[in-house]
Amino acid sequence: MGWIGVDLDGTLANYSHWEGEEHIGAPVPAMVSRVKAWLNAGEDVRIFTARVANGPAQLEHIKRWCLEHLGRILPITNVKDFGMAILWDDRCVQVGMNTGRRVGEEGVMSDEIINHPAHYTRGKFEVIDVIEDWNLDWHLGNVVKYVGRYGHKGSDLGDLKKARWYLNRKIQVMEGTQNENLDGDGRNERAG
Ligand SMILES: [Mg+2]
Repeated sequence: MGWIGVDLDGTLANYSHWEGEEHIGAPVPAMVSRVKAWLNAGEDVRIFTARVANGPAQLEHIKRWCLEHLGRILPITNVKDFGMAILWDDRCVQVGMNTGRRVGEEGVMSDEIINHPAHYTRGKFEVIDVIEDWNLDWHLGNVVKYVGRYGHKGSDLGDLKKARWYLNRKIQVMEGTQNENLDGDGRNERAG
């Protein structure tokens, strides 16, 4: 999967203007929650910031900020290597691979989004691999899908409710089938 780069100023921490290397803004709650969810899922998350160029004293300020707001110190870098799977940044514009066209323009989606949506690829296994390997049917496959992405695609309970809907539906189908068997031929045979 590779590591997830997260920009600091303007992405993870509030930023309006430069106030010195010792000043890092207040945490941006939605971004902090997202990072914490990734960390809980075992993702390799790294702070990706131009501040690294300021030198070692700067790193200490960033580490302290991490500890205070994320509960742990993340790796800090300004180097984008081939292990970086994705970058979250307030200044980025994403282009479709090999297209030169902006993602979001008509017909342009990122290959990563199409092939490996991040909300399905956390952890060691991709949801689609699990569903196929376990031979799950439509209903149960959706239960696993929505449970698997809960907390990673949006933060509401929508995914859990969708999982519940599919599970209820599966139970209804199974109960319907069982009742049919009881009320149908099986019962007639017994009655006869
Ligand atoms: Mg920034």
